[in-house]
Amino acid sequence: MKKWHSWKPEYATENFDVIIIGSGISGLTLGVLLSKYGKRVLILEKHFKVGGWTHTFKRKNYEWDVGIHYIGEVHNLQSPVRRLFDILSDGQLEWHKMNDNYDRIIFPDNHYNFNAPYTRFIDDMVEYFPGTRDKFQEYLQMINASVKNGLPFYANKALPNWLSRLTYNKMANPFHKYADVTTREVIMKIFDDEQILGVLTGQWGDYGLPPSQSSFAMHALVVRHYLDGGNYPIGTSRRIAETVTDYIEKMDGKIYVNAGVDEIITERGKAIGVRMSNGDEIKAPMLISSAGIMNTFGKLLKSDSKFDVFKNKLKKITPTFSYHSLYIGLNKSSEELNLQNTNLWIYPGYDHDKNVNDYFEDSSAPLPVTYLSFPAAKDPAAEIAHPGFSTMEAITVANWSDFSRWKGLPWKKRGEAYENHKEELSQKLLKTVYEYVPQAKDALDYHELSTPLTVNSLANYPEGEMYGIEHSPDRFRQRWLRPQTDIKNLFLTGQDVITVGVTAAMYSGLVTASAILKKNLIKDFLGK
Ligand SMILES: Cc1cc2nc3c(=O)[nH]c(=O)nc-3n(C[C@H](O)[C@H](O)[C@H](O)COP(=O)(O)OP(=O)(O)OC[C@H]3O[C@@H](n4cnc5c(N)ncnc54)[C@H](O)[C@@H]3O)c2cc1C
Repeated sequence: MKKWHSWKPEYATENFDVIIIGSGISGLTLGVLLSKYGKRVLILEKHFKVGGWTHTFKRKNYEWDVGIHYIGEVHNLQSPVRRLFDILSDGQLEWHKMNDNYDRIIFPDNHYNFNAPYTRFIDDMVEYFPGTRDKFQEYLQMINASVKNGLPFYANKALPNWLSRLTYNKMANPFHKYADVTTREVIMKIFDDEQILGVLTGQWGDYGLPPSQSSFAMHALVVRHYLDGGNYPIGTSRRIAETVTDYIEKMDGKIYVNAGVDEIITERGKAIGVRMSNGDEIKAPMLISSAGIMNTFGKLLKSDSKFDVFKNKLKKITPTFSYHSLYIGLNKSSEELNLQNTNLWIYPGYDHDKNVNDYFEDSSAPLPVTYLSFPAAKDPAAEIAHPGFSTMEAITVANWSDFSRWKGLPWKKRGEAYENHKEELSQKLLKTVYEYVPQAKDALDYHELSTPLTVNSLANYPEGEMYGIEHSPDRFRQRWLRPQTDIKNLFLTGQDVITVGVTAAMYSGLVTASAILKKNLIKDFLGK
């Protein structure tokens, strides 16, 4: 396991070309790409581990991922996603393909398997819903068209402001046709069937917004990403940061943990450096924030009326819901327990919007989604690292306001009422676990629940949001969600610039690097 270095005040005198705030996949991608073009990079990470949502944590004989359960496309060696991962990790990152049955969507009366490849997906759906082949073909054509039209929309973000403005209509308008409408509108127009809508949006948890609120463009990205199957990084998701940081360090770049940034220092409209939480100041000619839009504009640019314009922009976007994750340790191997690596999405009914509304109005209503993932069963290295043990994760949505009363209290010391509330929620999740994975009951050895406060204190998302800002049609109309800001030398990257997802956040690093270097890196690294 790679060791990370903590920030020390004596480092503040070193010279760097670029400071990157945050070490998630977007910040790391940018770090590698800028290093490749001769920039000396400093990455400052608030957490005590590198990797943002790609880090893992350990307890006893168990290790869990916090923000990766499956990644599409990387099993295809020629796919742009795989090629970019190979460039970043110098080919060190290895992947294991899951079963063809990557997701199972479960309702009280029936379950539906999403099987790769996409031809099988259609065949299976037609078996579940006879006589609908043409409609499923039309649906997948819409999915493909939305993804294809998104490419110029995202590429436009890499252009200088003047050129982006000039070309925006041509590059973005075809995409808005798909992004301006909700997932529900598109699916109901094709099928006019609430049950099919419920099944096809069974992965809504991957983008965090039920069908009547989410943009179809976001739904399309996720569906397309997984249609050919899911993959898992061999050796857990921590291997991503462990392999990607090697190149940055080789090029004399530095990555420090326990290095929270408190302020982006500006002078006469230019970003000139950062002030760390301990008061240290570091100057650099260029700053990039991957810490999320809410943090960057809402917190890191300190109160000054000249920044009101940015704070006003935040009123146009909404953070996603938060979530609970129950990390489960089982004292038998995946093989002994016959755990499959298919993700289970368990719902109380087909109407996801209603399920969510009911739960947020009254938390005694059934959980609107329970997602079960089996990391040890996805990872061929798990049995070598932890022989005789296996892991599970059970995730559901959460409301920040239910937890804000404990905000400000230190991690692990939030008191009895908080711990009791957590245990109550844990038992609720375990009840579903035992119903669908009964063999887990006797093997249960450890469980620990994360709450919105965990996300707030460890990942620094202000309202414990799961996926940054929500993927509504409105979000895709926010032209200012791009690498360039109105503050000279300050750039943005990360999931808020493109969309949620490890590959989208990785692409945001590529887009931001293109914008900074004024080079078409998309073409340089990925071909067309
Ligand atoms: C529970 C969960 C499950 C997920 N599952 C999947 C999945 O299966 N597949 C998939 O593709 N995607 C998944 N995602 C989404 C994916 O993990 C993210 O979209 C992606 O990793 C975001 O990368 P990022 O670089 O934009 O941000 P982050 O990974 O959030 O990185 C931002 C970094 O900035 C740091 N930071 C914040 N403020 C400061 C500061 N002031 N100073 C210094 N550092 C700071 C943070 O600590 C963090 O490390 C999941 C996410 C979650 C939460």
